[in-house]
Amino acid sequence: MKIFYTNEHRRHHPPFEVFDGGKRVPYYENPDRMDRILAALKKTDWAEFSEPEDFGLDPILAVHDRDYINFLASCWTEWLSSDPEVAASPEAHAFLPATFALRRNTRPTNSLHGRGGYYIMDLSACIVAGTYQAALASANCALSASSSIVHGQRSAFALCRPPGHHAGRDYAGGYCFINNASVAANWLSAKGKTALLDIDYHAGNGTQDIFYERSDVLTISIHGDPDFEYPHYAGFADETGAGAGLGFHRNFPLPKGTGDAGYLGALDEALAMIRKFTPDFLVLSAGMDTFDGDPLGKFRVTRNGFAEIGHRIASLNLPIVIIMEGGYANEALGENVRTLLENFK
Ligand SMILES: [Zn+2]
Repeated sequence: MKIFYTNEHRRHHPPFEVFDGGKRVPYYENPDRMDRILAALKKTDWAEFSEPEDFGLDPILAVHDRDYINFLASCWTEWLSSDPEVAASPEAHAFLPATFALRRNTRPTNSLHGRGGYYIMDLSACIVAGTYQAALASANCALSASSSIVHGQRSAFALCRPPGHHAGRDYAGGYCFINNASVAANWLSAKGKTALLDIDYHAGNGTQDIFYERSDVLTISIHGDPDFEYPHYAGFADETGAGAGLGFHRNFPLPKGTGDAGYLGALDEALAMIRKFTPDFLVLSAGMDTFDGDPLGKFRVTRNGFAEIGHRIASLNLPIVIIMEGGYANEALGENVRTLLENFK
């Protein structure tokens, strides 16, 4: 299986993140996650690593707002040049707004912090010196994997970091800046009918935002119920698309403690919807934070569960691009990813 990966992600490593109540903790979405996955895949005889190609900005601007991407591109250097304290010790800092736009009748303001609060949804999407370059490289991994299935591969894995599914058309959030899976699905949709299935523990609110009014890309997310879980304001069962997209989005919010059986029941329903849609390509947002013991999740999916999830998705028999999203139980992450991917080699 072709695996697209680049070390560029190491440029995005914020020194901390801020949790509810203002607690500073080490950044959960860290480069060690990739090292664990690389180590597990390098032990197999089927993983073929490639560097991504550069697709330029066009496929990214096809799903993201240009002013938002410009903000990501310039945020760090603007902050560095405007704040002497940041300039004195940049490695100890991460850009975060302290005021957030409610997005009613509002607009981004000229000030950097005003734009920060408009384009960033929460305190996990810290921007540091290398964030933008890392996010571009991550999107290029997703596009390169998509290109390889258009050219005849049955499957490809984009080992993306930072992840993407919480990034909406014009906002960052949940460790995500550019929505890699949406960039891939939109790019693929010009070559054939495309469905996107999100199995990350958290609702794919960004993907939902991007495709909500479109009928040409079916989007489905299985996740912790937003009544108790991040991202809190999207991912409810009654959100099923709007306008032309009505009926082409589906959320499966599941309760705390969901294990293999409960998860697989929802997955079967999702797979039946995908079969009915008859896509030419499938994009899989593959987060592994449904794992029992993940520090950011409350499900109890086991490694055997991941094997079965992969087996059932593979039974669709569709060309598939698998995109890395979340998963924070680092010591188990590599083997969990390998177990899922074994079904597609
Ligand atoms: Zn997640």
